Order: sequence, then structure tokens, then C-alpha cells
Amino acid sequence: MTALPFFVANRPVQGTGPTFVSTNPATGAANYEVSAASAADVDAAVTAARDAVRSARWRNLRPHERARIIARIADGMEAHAQELADIQMRENGKVMAECRTQVSSAIATYRYFAAVCETLGSDVTPSRGDYVSMTVHEPVGVVAAITPWNSPLTMEAQKVAPALAAGNAIIVKPSEVTPTAAILVARIAAEAGLPAGILNVVTGLGTDTGVALVRHPGVRMVSFTGGTETGRAIGRICADRLIPAALELGGKSPNIVFEDADLDAAVTGVIGGIFEGSGQSCVAGSRLFVQRSVYAEFVARLKTATEALGVGLPTQAGVKMGPLASFPHRDRVERMVEDARKEGGDIIAGGTRPGAPELADGAFYMPTLIAGLTNASGAARQEIFGPVLVLLSFDDEADVVAQANDTVYGLACGIWTADYRRAWRVARAIEAGTVWINTYKQLSIATPFGGFKESGIGREKGISGVRLYQQSKGIYWDMGPLVPPFMDTEDAMKGGSK
Ligand code: NAD
Repeated sequence: MTALPFFVANRPVQGTGPTFVSTNPATGAANYEVSAASAADVDAAVTAARDAVRSARWRNLRPHERARIIARIADGMEAHAQELADIQMRENGKVMAECRTQVSSAIATYRYFAAVCETLGSDVTPSRGDYVSMTVHEPVGVVAAITPWNSPLTMEAQKVAPALAAGNAIIVKPSEVTPTAAILVARIAAEAGLPAGILNVVTGLGTDTGVALVRHPGVRMVSFTGGTETGRAIGRICADRLIPAALELGGKSPNIVFEDADLDAAVTGVIGGIFEGSGQSCVAGSRLFVQRSVYAEFVARLKTATEALGVGLPTQAGVKMGPLASFPHRDRVERMVEDARKEGGDIIAGGTRPGAPELADGAFYMPTLIAGLTNASGAARQEIFGPVLVLLSFDDEADVVAQANDTVYGLACGIWTADYRRAWRVARAIEAGTVWINTYKQLSIATPFGGFKESGIGREKGISGVRLYQQSKGIYWDMGPLVPPFMDTEDAMKGGSK
């Protein structure tokens, strides 16, 4: 079997690293063998990107011309929408409806950043002398975008589209679990007229290809989404190299139900918040806090709804939860549930693989509810990244704010209450980058997204999502008599000396 090539400078490339196999987690069947980029291949990709980002063909494009290419990428993705959804489903096992939604979301991301590209300007700043002072925003150069397996299409779009709008060249290193959607998008971009070398994809393991990319001296910024420990390792290298790192990391988000909430809506929101995508979502509401007065009633309803969730093959209509994205990950989730049991957890739903024979070869795990633990338990502190919800209770507002914030993470939070003043107070008191009130997991590409604390550094999406990939430059343009200032003159000191 010939390994699938990756894509550099608008051409397929057979890597010289050891190949790896992509596996369908729903069936256990091998999808294909994939080529891996060695350090030498990474070097070739970075060289191509560096040449391309400096070339007049890309540098001199007017914003509307760059925007047109980005919008054409969206058109091309629309034409290949089903193929993109099929790739994601084959590689990470998400149900088809969710794959289709994520393709649409990725397309919308390109359209949004095409529009932002047309509208972003430079600033004329207040001058303190006889000159015009401006702030212009320039690309950082070559950006390495390293992404996880849970939502490759949307995660990659959230990095590539703004980085292109900002004028950079990009090298995407997708997860080895979901290696090929990025390759198809890069092909589409080439057909859309993107100059060679501006969008490149190198596949391979994080510890080989990923590390080679982060360490490469030609890479001027790393944009990473993935686990907190990987982010920390990448951040250390970036600190050493003195290059910026944007880090979107893990979470252990609280979903809080007050006694006055609409409990039907809250059950639906809590279920979707944790079990959509089989819990493999950075913003998954994986710690449930229910006010003690309604705890028993709410948990009974939640158990009924959890046990009614359709678990099955991602191609089947009506299925809400497919497999986990890989067998090692399923085994890890299973071990973490066992650990929770050992620390006194009461598994009130799930806690097993499904019994259905047609699912026996896939990486499935039943939606799981664990009661009887405290917020200090391992299950409540560690990111499980699977369909596992830890059920906790609280007495009052102060108690739940303290418990919800007692975590190293700070990605998201849900609040269910009929009291809008309380919703506001709690939303402001929670240490998280995103808060949902009487809803969960609603996201807009126009709203900056990122984590507090160990959930990350930097904000993707929105206008700040483009600025993330730019560096500002101050330009002073003298308008007075042609006498250069000296630092001992009063005029020159007005702006502060350097
Ligand atoms: P991961 O950290 O294992 O891998 C992410 C990417 O980094 C992959 O492409 C991998 O090959 C690469 N990588 C691994 N080690 C590397 C290294 N030493 N140097 C360079 N690259 C390396 O994460 P994962 O298991 O793919 O994804 C799950 C994690 O991602 C979860 O923790 C989840 O919370 C997080 N996540 C965060 C967000 C967010 O926006 N905050 C979104 C999705 C997923």
C-alpha cells in the first residue's frame, strides 16, 4: 500500500519519516497508511513557506484580493463538503450529522475571515510632535498550526483562515489520528489560487514531526490546540526560542444547575454539553453542580435521558454518540472510570462498553454518570475527555462559585437559572474564557475564544483572531522642518525616550 502523501508548496509529497496507519474507530478497520514528515521534510516545508511569505506575489496582494482567495477556499470546501465530512467520520468516528455541521462551521470560518480581511485597517495614533504616527499590522511570517483529533476541520479553519487573512504562510501539523482533512483543504486552497508555499500540511507524530516543526528556526509562531501537558512542552520551546505561542488547551468545565432553573432545558443542555462528540470536546461540561434541593430529582431525570441516548455507528440515523476517536483513547477513558470507581465513585449510568454485537469491533464506551465523589476527587480534577460526567452538589451561590473555580482549568462554564441577576453575578465570578447562560456550547466565530488559567493563552476567533497572527509596527513620518531631533530636546522627550 502506498502511503498517502502530505502537501507542501501545492504539491503532494511522500515523506521520508516512518509511515503510520489511520484506523476507523467505529469498525477497527485500517483506513490507509499515511506518509510522515521527517525533520528534513519539515525543513523543506518551512523553507517553501518562508520563500512564499516573502514573495511579492503574496506580500503585495491587496486585502480584497487576499479576501477573494479565502472566500474561494470556502467555495471549494462547499463543493467538497460531503467528502470532508466523510473523512472526519472515518478518522475520528463522530456521527455524520456532527461532521456535516463542523464542515459548515469551517466553511463559515473562511467566509468570516475573508470579510474581516477586507475591513481591517491600520491606525493613525495621536502624535506628540510635528509628525504623523501610525500603527500598521504585519504578518508574523511562518506560522506552525498544530491541531488535535476531536474537531480537525473547525480547529484547523480557526487557525488557517485568520493566519491567511493576516498575511502569513502556514504549516499545519494535524493530529496523527485525523491526518487527511487538512490535506484536502490545502488542495482546495491551491485550486482556489493560493500561491504555492502559503498553506502546507505535514503529517506525522507529534513527538517527531510536531517537535521538528516547533524547533525549526524558520517558524516564527506556534498556534497550538491540544492537551495542557503538550501545550506546556511546546510553550517551553517557544519561550526558549522567543517566539509567540497561542495555546488552546484542556478543560474541566462546570455546568451549574440552580434550583430555580427550567429543569427540562437544563437536562437537555447538560446531556448535550457532555455527551455530544462522545465527550471529546475541550469545552465539555464535565463537572455537573446541582443545587442540593433539586439534586435527587435532577439526577433521576438525567439518568433516564442518559440511558436513552442512541449509541451506535456514526453512519446510522438517530445515533447521538459514536465511538471514541481511537482505541488507546477509549482504553484510557475506561481506566479513568475504573480509577473513579476505586476512589468511591458510584457509577449510576454507563461505565461499560456497549453490549451490541455490531459495536464490538469499535472503540465505543457508554455515556457514564458518576455520583458520590467530591470536587477534590481525581475524576473531578482530571480531564477525562470522554463521555463521563461527574455529579456534584452545592448549597448556595458562594459555595458553587468556590467549587467551580477550584480547578487548574478555566475554559468554559454553563449556568442554568431563572434569576438573571444571579446569572450575571455568577458569570462574572467564574474564571473561564466562555460562559453560557441557559444554554451550552453555542459559539460564534465573531466572539473571541480561549482559556483562563491552564486552559490556554491567547484568543482565537473574532477580529482578535487575526491580530493574533500579526505584529504591530509603529511608523513615524516627520512633517516638520528637516531637522532631526535629539533626545535632549523638550520635543523629543514628550513621548518618552528609549
Ligand atoms: P495532544 O496534545 O496529544 O495532541 C495535539 C497535537 O499536538 C497533535 O497534532 C499531536 O501530534 C501534537 N503533539 C503531541 N506532542 C507534541 C509535541 N511534543 N510537540 C509538538 N506537537 C505535539 O492532544 P489530543 O489528544 O490530540 O487532543 C485532546 C486534547 O486537546 C484535550 O486535552 C482537549 O481538551 C484539547 N483541546 C483543546 C481545545 C481548545 O480550544 N482549548 C480544543 C480541542 C481540543
